[in-house]
Amino acid sequence: MIITMLFIFIQGGSVCAQDLDFYFPKEIKQLNPEIPTPKDFLGFDVGQQYITYDQTVAYLRLLAQKSDRIKFVENGFTYERKPLVFLTISSKENLSNIDKIRQTHLDLCNPEKSGKIYVEHIPIVTWMGYSVHGNEASGINASVIVAYILAASNDVFIQNVLQNNIIILQPALNPDGSQRYATWVNSNKSQSENSDENNREFREPAPSSRSNHYWFDLNRDWLFVQNPESYYRMEQFYKWMPTFVNDYHEHGNTSGTYFSPGIKNSTNSLIPEENWIITKKISDYHAKILSSIGTMYFSKEGYDDFYTGKGATLPDLTGGIGVLYEQPNPRGFVREKDGIKFRFTDMIKNQVYCSMSALMAALEMKNELLTYQKNFFIEKKREAEKDLVKGYVFGSKSDISLSKEFMRILKTHDIDVYKLNKNITVGQKTFDKDFSYIVPCNQNKYPVIKTIFEKTTSYKDSSFYDVTTWTIPLGFNIDYSDLKEISGLTGEKADIITYVEIAKVPVTNYAYLFEISDYYSYKFLYYLQSKGIMLKAGDSPFAFIQDGHEHQFKAGVIMISVKEQAYSIEEINKILNEYSAGPKISILAVNNGTGEKFDLGSGHFKIITKPTIAILTGKGATYSIIGEIWHLLDLRFGIPVTLLDADIIGGDIDLNKYNTIIIANSFKLTKEASDKLTTWASNNTLIAIGAAYKTANDIGISDINTIKDKNQKDSTVYGKYSDFIEKNNSSSINGVILNSKIDLSHPLAYGLSNGEIPLFKEGEIFLSKPTNKYITPVCYSDNPLLSGYMGKKYPDMIKGTPAVLAGKSLIYFVDDPYFRACWLGSSRLLMNALFFRELVAKEKVQTEK
Ligand SMILES: [Zn+2]
Repeated sequence: MIITMLFIFIQGGSVCAQDLDFYFPKEIKQLNPEIPTPKDFLGFDVGQQYITYDQTVAYLRLLAQKSDRIKFVENGFTYERKPLVFLTISSKENLSNIDKIRQTHLDLCNPEKSGKIYVEHIPIVTWMGYSVHGNEASGINASVIVAYILAASNDVFIQNVLQNNIIILQPALNPDGSQRYATWVNSNKSQSENSDENNREFREPAPSSRSNHYWFDLNRDWLFVQNPESYYRMEQFYKWMPTFVNDYHEHGNTSGTYFSPGIKNSTNSLIPEENWIITKKISDYHAKILSSIGTMYFSKEGYDDFYTGKGATLPDLTGGIGVLYEQPNPRGFVREKDGIKFRFTDMIKNQVYCSMSALMAALEMKNELLTYQKNFFIEKKREAEKDLVKGYVFGSKSDISLSKEFMRILKTHDIDVYKLNKNITVGQKTFDKDFSYIVPCNQNKYPVIKTIFEKTTSYKDSSFYDVTTWTIPLGFNIDYSDLKEISGLTGEKADIITYVEIAKVPVTNYAYLFEISDYYSYKFLYYLQSKGIMLKAGDSPFAFIQDGHEHQFKAGVIMISVKEQAYSIEEINKILNEYSAGPKISILAVNNGTGEKFDLGSGHFKIITKPTIAILTGKGATYSIIGEIWHLLDLRFGIPVTLLDADIIGGDIDLNKYNTIIIANSFKLTKEASDKLTTWASNNTLIAIGAAYKTANDIGISDINTIKDKNQKDSTVYGKYSDFIEKNNSSSINGVILNSKIDLSHPLAYGLSNGEIPLFKEGEIFLSKPTNKYITPVCYSDNPLLSGYMGKKYPDMIKGTPAVLAGKSLIYFVDDPYFRACWLGSSRLLMNALFFRELVAKEKVQTEK
């Protein structure tokens, strides 16, 4: 009894509790008592605690057991082994016939079959996705109420919704982030109301749980699909080809609620204009329902449908209507800003109401939306037939892994790919039929294919919510080309590429040689170094004759000299043949050391040592870039990396455990830390990215200077206040792809064979001319813009300036080398920096003042 009373006392002290009725529109009645409410299961009211992802999944699993309107689907796991969960919700009758309904819907999206389908006779497919950003938690908390309403309500509206809808509900698109955020807020919550925004509850430390485990923004990954949350979601997405896609977020906490359509002029050109008009019509439903509860909102500004890698935009390329919702972010339970209180419970309520208005729109506009989707595919087929580009060819013999990774993206998007059936040359490039593939344009996913391959250089508007270009083959730096004709070129259908087995490496008592042209070669290098095999890299092309054959290797050829190792001849051979973690690298067993210009014992072969790597984390770190590099090394290459908090450097930790430290963004270091890093760098290598050059300068190992805007004049002129309000971001670089020239003789270029490499550039760091001769392996081309929008002043400022500097103690990348885990091309420069750091010119990295 005493315990119960105490419990009641604690509950009574809570400021956040709201009954379920609070969240329901008045139309929702007649609840089936057999269906457990969220509180029945959780033991607390929604909004009283942040519901964790684990609790959400457990409740929804129970709901699916109790309700014949819900099917529980689990198709994969996040990095933190949380199940990825989708509910299929519809009437009992529809669910008993679900496979047929799904097939009919797919036929609606196929112009060959859609003529026979009458939209009046079929349900609409509505996707409800919540909280892709983990710290926008009103979404996941609302999702359990929406699922409950759909499972429990017997009123006419919900009955109609269920009969006319197949709802795919994803309670949280970012389970790892949602779990992390709920844990943070719950563990810092007080019982009495404290809305002081300085309170710890509202100030989750970086890296925020907006992102997933490796700190990726999953709402930028719908196209690149580099994270499991994305590719398992796309599997469900393409299985259903939803007609109406709802994407529930939160944004800065002083604006009102936002819902699409957003800025009309910034819509991607692959999306029909009718899409915006229909979205505008749908927005009337949200406006009406939010007005009924006094919620302030806006809908025609702030967001756009331009970058197709987002959850409310990619669906527009598959005939759907993607709608974005943003609620003011409470960041805790009740936060006060500018005298306004933002309550978590109000935001959950807004999300539930916007879910109901979406379902109302789906019901009343069902036939219009389905007709739009049907016609979308008919029209896109016409466009594909008229397109002068009939397809794309890609692939190269020397880098099967790159083709394999690219193919995985195409297959995740359910794109048909074929083998090339004869060797072809397009422009300067030759494609070998055994290693190249064709993507015909005239297929169902034509708009997705276009957005993957297309370069863009003309725009209606100069204001962008996100990047202005994302041409994936350029990011991959893969050999590819447009094709004006594909008839006679397509062979059999191709699936995920598998590595071909190659012959065992024969034993030699002298040396082994191999090249690192394959993307995953670094995995092999690390494997060998971890086994204690000493590797040498040739700094120049090497040619020699063995058994009457001439063998030629490029600079960067790797040698294992047998006698110099700590292993026996047989043991070394066994280690080479045992490797199975990546593609088998073609290795030549060499029986003599005589080369054409120099021999194997020459000083041209230099020892390369195993990288031991730390990345600086903590205050000041750019976690998106750090997360990418962590992902690159840990996941792609199996290379361990220490996430080293900058504030412990100055203490008694031994920095010499690491021969490479990576920093992204500039850190304000203590004197102790700074001195220690300076001493450390005299024998080791700091790799700096972006603004981190300032830290390198601060610790005295470099003198890197940027060029200021030479064209900037004193612009003291009168401007209209309305222009100030509308001031857009056209004066900065939001994300473009620039071409650069690479010195193929430089260690950072090892394994590459093309003298140009596309780089992703965001922001405005442009370096002045280097003052030492041999420190610039990569500089931007004279006419650098490959794709994307940047202001007119930039090409002149950028051309010819250094993009990468490499010298004593420091290798510096101006741009993020592995943007959104999709810039595999330039990530090789970083991998080379790690493995060949000892070979760069020992000159100080400095540029003109
Ligand atoms: Zn968001």
